Amino acid sequence: MRQQQIAVIGAGITGLTQALWLQRQGHQISLFERGSDRLDHHCSHVGAGMLAPYCELSEAETDIAHWGAAALTLWQRVVPTLARPVHMSCAGTLVVAHHQDRAGSNHLAERVDHAGFGEHQRWLQRDELRELEPELADRFAEGLYLAPEGEIDPRSLLPALVETLRQDGAMLHFATEVEDQASGQITVQGQRHAFDWVLDCRGLAAREQMPDLRGVRGEIMTLHTREVRLNRPIRMMHPRYPLYIVPRPNHRFVVGATSIESDSLRPATVRSALELLSAAYALHPALAEAEIVEMNTQCRPTFPDHLPRITQQDHLLRINGLYRHGYLLSPLLAETVATLIRDQRPPAEMARLWQPL
Ligand SMILES: Cc1cc2nc3c(=O)[nH]c(=O)nc-3n(C[C@H](O)[C@H](O)[C@H](O)COP(=O)(O)OP(=O)(O)OC[C@H]3O[C@@H](n4cnc5c(N)ncnc54)[C@H](O)[C@@H]3O)c2cc1C
Repeated sequence: MRQQQIAVIGAGITGLTQALWLQRQGHQISLFERGSDRLDHHCSHVGAGMLAPYCELSEAETDIAHWGAAALTLWQRVVPTLARPVHMSCAGTLVVAHHQDRAGSNHLAERVDHAGFGEHQRWLQRDELRELEPELADRFAEGLYLAPEGEIDPRSLLPALVETLRQDGAMLHFATEVEDQASGQITVQGQRHAFDWVLDCRGLAAREQMPDLRGVRGEIMTLHTREVRLNRPIRMMHPRYPLYIVPRPNHRFVVGATSIESDSLRPATVRSALELLSAAYALHPALAEAEIVEMNTQCRPTFPDHLPRITQQDHLLRINGLYRHGYLLSPLLAETVATLIRDQRPPAEMARLWQPL
C-alpha cells in the first residue's frame, strides 16, 4: 500500500492510539495538539485507566465488553513495544460491597452471566479473598473476582505513546490549534494543508460538528500512603456510580470516579470529595491517613447511546464519544480505522461503530 500522509488532530488517548496504529502501518503521521506536550490539560490526563470490560457491564451494553476484551489483548501486545516503560497490570478486578450495596454486585454477576461471560467471574469466600487481597479479608466476607481485567497508568502511557511516535518519525505539532478540518484538509494559522486523510480526535471540542456530543463530568482523586497494600483494582459497589480504587506505582491509589450529567469543569465539589473519600475509608480504614495528592475534574465526551462513533466524510474521519471507555476501547478503534485505510472499507464486525455521512 502507498504511504499515506495522515493528519491526526488531538493528542488524547484517541488521537495517540490512532497515530500509533497508522504509523505502524507505514504511514506518515502529522499530529496536531492545541495544548502543550505536558499533556496535562485533557480528559485523557484525568482518566483512571481501568481496562475492565466485564465490570463495566453493570452499566454498559454487551458490545462494550466484547470490544473491551479484544482491546485488552491489543494493549498487551503493544505496550511492551513502546519507547518507554508503561505501568500496566492484568491481575483481574475484585468487586466488593458492603451489606447495603450487595444487590449491586449480584446485579453485576447476573449481567456478566447473561452476556455470556460467566466463565470470567468467580465468587470468592473469605479464605480465597484473603489469598488475593489479604488486607481486605477482615472487612468483606465475599467478593466477585473478574478476570482477565486490568488497568494502565495514563501518566506513563501518554508520554510513552508520544515518545514512540517521535522516535519513529511522526511530526508532532504541540501548542498548535487546528482551526478547521475537512476531507483531506486542515487549516492552521489561516493556511490550508492537504493530507490523504484527516482524523478528528478532538474529544469534546468537536461539539460544533457533532451536536449530540455532550460532556459527562467526572471527579477523581489520587492518594498516597505506604500503609495500604492492594494487589489489583478494587471495584466498590456504590449506589450512584461505578467506583474503583486502583493501586499505582509509588504507593499511589487512584479513587474515582463520579459521574454527573454536566459539562462543567468547575473544581471538584465537597460532596464528591466526601463521597470518594468515604468509599476509600470504608474499603480500608488505613486510607484515612493517606495524603491527598491530586483531585481532578474532567468531562467525558459522550453520545446519547454511550457508544463510541466513527463518522466518515470522504477522507475525514471523526473518532469520538469514548465516554468512560477511552482507555478500554481506543486500541480497537485504532485497529478499525487502520483496517479501513488499508482495505478501503471498515471491518464488518465493527459496523455498529460506523456512521457514514
Ligand atoms: C474522571 C474520569 C475517569 C475515567 N476513567 C476511565 C477509565 O478508568 N477507563 C477508561 O477506559 N476511560 C476512562 N475515562 C474516559 C477517558 O478518559 C476518555 O474516554 C478519554 O480520555 C477521551 O479521550 P479523547 O482523546 O477522545 O479526548 P481528550 O483526552 O479530551 O483529547 C482531545 C484532545 O484534542 C485536543 N484538541 C481539541 N481541539 C483541538 C484543535 N482545534 N486543535 C488541536 N487539538 C485540539 C485537546 O486539546 C485534547 O488534547 C475516564 C474519564 C474521566 C473524566
